[in-house]
Amino acid sequence: MDVHDIFDVVIESGKQTLFWYDPWLGSGNLKAKYPSLFELESRKRCRVSDRIVDSTHVWRWKSRPVVLGLDSAVSALSRDISNIRLGTGSDHWSCKLSVDGRYSVSSLRKIVDATHVNIPGTSDILWCKAVPIKVLCFVWRAAQDRIPTAMALEKRGIVVNSNLCCSCIGIPECTGHVLMDCSFATVIRNNILG
Ligand SMILES: [Zn+2]
Repeated sequence: MDVHDIFDVVIESGKQTLFWYDPWLGSGNLKAKYPSLFELESRKRCRVSDRIVDSTHVWRWKSRPVVLGLDSAVSALSRDISNIRLGTGSDHWSCKLSVDGRYSVSSLRKIVDATHVNIPGTSDILWCKAVPIKVLCFVWRAAQDRIPTAMALEKRGIVVNSNLCCSCIGIPECTGHVLMDCSFATVIRNNILG
């Protein structure tokens, strides 16, 4: 996830925003959209306010674009920024994840969980503050089948005497067995619940 997936640049005076580098005009930046013109730019770290002055576009090219056949690219760029009217306030960043534009860790966490850690049934557990963090970590790992059962260790190339449960005859020691199906686990669970 890129920082620009989370924040938008909001242009006011254009004095704090880099014309070519910052993604202030839709997605991506102008450097990527117009690479030939970027090469032709004489001051690559210019601000938006350097290139848009009183609704006029002020270019500083190293050589004339028309000579290099780039006049159509300049026209396209001019069209892209034709509706931009600069104000007097400071440019700022706005968080895309919230309605009010304010950034919060929880809003980012929801996106990360939804896009990168899609484990059904764990979201409610992970946000429950009443549960100790070490228990949450264990549940988190168990939900991903990443607790060190005999089968998990064997799968990772670690030598174990047997991948079978030491309490149940002939049953492989996997995550589901250790926590739910094992007769020993059942006794423990019944004692807790009962
Ligand atoms: Zn067992």
